[in-house]
Amino acid sequence: MAWRSGGRSNAELIDNMVKNGLIISPQIAEAMRKVDRKNYVPDQMYAYEDSPQRIGFGATISAPHMHAHACENLLSFLPVANSPHTGAILDVGSGSGYLTAVLHHLAPHSLVIGIDHIQGLVDQSISNLKKDGVPLGPGKDGKGGVIMICGDGRKGSPEHAPFSIIHVGAAAPEIPQPLIDQLAKPGRMFIPVGQGSQDIWQIDKSDTGEVTKKKLFGVMYVPLTDADKQWKSEL
Ligand code: SAH
Repeated sequence: MAWRSGGRSNAELIDNMVKNGLIISPQIAEAMRKVDRKNYVPDQMYAYEDSPQRIGFGATISAPHMHAHACENLLSFLPVANSPHTGAILDVGSGSGYLTAVLHHLAPHSLVIGIDHIQGLVDQSISNLKKDGVPLGPGKDGKGGVIMICGDGRKGSPEHAPFSIIHVGAAAPEIPQPLIDQLAKPGRMFIPVGQGSQDIWQIDKSDTGEVTKKKLFGVMYVPLTDADKQWKSEL
């Protein structure tokens, strides 16, 4: 079913994902409607297919149903008004910037940090986000807005921590401790873990700082690795 949800437009793609039960929450459908996938993929022909696509530099934009699953999992930890969550949001391995944009629309008054270790991808994601009308830089009140940085996502972004939500878009051999350390109390991380066979893990930190780990389902992501192992610059 996941692969049959494609459409001729962004609206049709989202409608089909709702119909097929891949998007459950109305807030997520609404946020994904605001992010036009054509602004994040190199080949417009496949923009509205529910499949991953290569975006260069050894990276792929994940399939929309994987983005939807991640958002559904993280939804109850969103730093939004009238919630106990006040931290920022971190998207590790931000790649195309697509999910960073969805997270921004889900929590428009929270700071969303996208981090990727390949400068070419960071530049590309900034241009994608601009095309899609996403506000870059911190909002006027120092809250809201999207910041894209180049760096090793395994180290997180200590200067923007704590994070109510950490999404990791590449599979780690093991869960990086700095990411656990940078989770807010309470906070949740959604992270693919494993080499060869990979699973999504949900890491929760309670309001007292207790960490619990739960294996959710099997996946296939590009590895969370060293930049030169992923992509050798031709220069
Ligand atoms: N959510 C993104 C996924 C991109 S693929 C999207 O849908 O567009 C995974 C990304 O993880 C790639 O862009 C890759 O460059 C990045 N990545 C891999 N290892 C990394 C690391 N150590 N630090 C930061 N980013 C990393």
